[in-house]
Amino acid sequence: MTGLSFRRCPVVLAAPSGTGKTTIARELVERNERFTFSVSATTRPARAGEQHGVDYEFVSEEAFQEMIRDMSLVEWARVHGNLYGTPRQHVEAAQDRGQHVVLDIDVQGAMQIRTAIPDAVLIFIFPPSGKTLLERLGGRSTEADVEVARRLRNARQEMERAADFDYIVVNDALEHAVARVKSVVEAESQRPSRASNLEEEVRRLRTEIDEVLAEGEAPSE
Ligand code: 5GP
Repeated sequence: MTGLSFRRCPVVLAAPSGTGKTTIARELVERNERFTFSVSATTRPARAGEQHGVDYEFVSEEAFQEMIRDMSLVEWARVHGNLYGTPRQHVEAAQDRGQHVVLDIDVQGAMQIRTAIPDAVLIFIFPPSGKTLLERLGGRSTEADVEVARRLRNARQEMERAADFDYIVVNDALEHAVARVKSVVEAESQRPSRASNLEEEVRRLRTEIDEVLAEGEAPSE
């Protein structure tokens, strides 16, 4: 048996809001212990049911600015008027534990991760249709409220960045989308460049092959 050991990679799920990427990220983490969620810091006030440290780290604008100054965020962006950022410590700790850390962030943040963590896998989640997006944002086509209209306009713009990602997964049905993301990550994890002991394992197997060959060449009695 080979003892190849592959480094886990950070997984970025980005998409316009309303695409269902948070649900995909949560499902992935809940069903697979090899995945963990990156809890972002934000200045947005908590919504009903959201928990500090679970959904987000809810911080003041001042505390967030300090995180930027301390370089303790791998990336950050202003989204819909609030600040959001990925704490560096969470990403590093997850990797040290041998887990894939899942980042549920916006498109601007994903592009920053491309530079900050070249090893990361960037997946763009596609909404199946404009109508689904509207429904998921809780609006109605006749009288979309101001916030829903703003998010839809942002979505329209963000769709243009899909080509800059490594993979596209369509969120037509949750089960399928989660399975596709998982298979992308599994395939990505098995790149030779992610094997931390490739040379050593190749050397070991070559020695074993030499031994088998030598045995074969030995004169039989
Ligand atoms: P919401 O306020 O609806 O939870 O999130 C709004 C948007 O901010 C979503 O697109 C979400 O993915 C994004 N977001 C959440 N955390 C982060 C983060 O740490 N960095 C960036 N760049 N975007 C984030």
